[in-house]
Amino acid sequence: MTVEAVLLGSAQDGGFPQAGCACAACRAAWAGTLAAEAPTALALIDHEAGASWLIDATPAFPTQLNYLKRAAPDAPLRGIFLTHAHIGHYTGLIHLGREVMNSDRLPVYATERTCGFLTANAPWSQLVAFGNIALHAVKPGTPVDLTPALHVTPIMVPHRAEFSDTAAYVVEGPARAFFYCPDIDGWAQWDEDIATVVASVDVALLDGTFYSAAELPGRNLAEIPHPLVTESCALLAGQAARVVFVHMNHSNPLLDPASAERRSVEDAGFSVGATGMRWVL
Ligand SMILES: [Zn+2]
Ligand SMILES: [Zn+2]
Ligand SMILES: [Zn+2]
Repeated sequence: MTVEAVLLGSAQDGGFPQAGCACAACRAAWAGTLAAEAPTALALIDHEAGASWLIDATPAFPTQLNYLKRAAPDAPLRGIFLTHAHIGHYTGLIHLGREVMNSDRLPVYATERTCGFLTANAPWSQLVAFGNIALHAVKPGTPVDLTPALHVTPIMVPHRAEFSDTAAYVVEGPARAFFYCPDIDGWAQWDEDIATVVASVDVALLDGTFYSAAELPGRNLAEIPHPLVTESCALLAGQAARVVFVHMNHSNPLLDPASAERRSVEDAGFSVGATGMRWVL
C-alpha cells in the first residue's frame, strides 16, 4: 500500500449541513443524527516518497488537512491541485497565508486561467506575491509526474466559467487509475464520452450534486446545471461498481443512508462517497 487516495469530504461547495439552512436534512445533520460532510476533496498519498497532495482546497481545509495528517503522518502535504475557482474548490488556500500557515512556496497546480485568476485577484494575489504558494499551470492531457509512482493528468470539462475554466483529473498509481470530476454541467455537453472515460479507470468519483430535478423547487436547474444522479446511473449501469458519487448538495437524498434513493443507487451497484473512504492506487 505505497500509494493511496483518501476521500476527505463528499458534499457540494457549501458542505453539509449548509450555512443558514433549516431543511429537514440539514437540521438532522446539525443535530448529529445524519453524518455531516465537508465539501468534496481528495487526498493522494505516496507513502514511499513520504509526500501527499490534495485535489481541491475547500472551505473545510483546516479539518481536512488535519484528517490527512492523521491518515498519513509520514507524508506531509507537498502541493494542491485545483479543479476550478468556485468557492468549494479553492478558498481553502486562504489558510496558507501569513495570517495562518505562512507556507513557503507550496506548489498549487491549476489551469492557466485559474492561475491567472489567483494572480490577478485579492486576497489570492497576496499568496502569490508573498511566495506562500507557487503556481504551476497544468496543461490538458499532459501528466504531472509527482513521484515515479503517482501521476495526475488534467482533462477539461464544461462547467459555469465565471472566474475560471474547470479541470477534472485522472490520477494514476502503480496499480489503479482514478477519475476525479466533482463538477460538470452535463455529460452530453462534454466532448469526451463519460462511459468510455469510466471504463478506462478503476474508480470514478463523479458529480452527484443533485439526485433528481424534484430537489430544488423554485430554482431553475438550468442556472445550476449538473448531471442528475438518475441520468448518470442510467448511462453507467453496466459499470456501476466503478462509480462513486460525490459533491452532493444538502438537498440530495443520497446524504441520508436510510433514504429510498440511496438504497436504490446502492442496490444498482453504485457507491456514495463519504469522508474516510480509502483506495489503494
Ligand atoms: Zn463545486
Ligand atoms: Zn439544507
Ligand atoms: Zn463549480
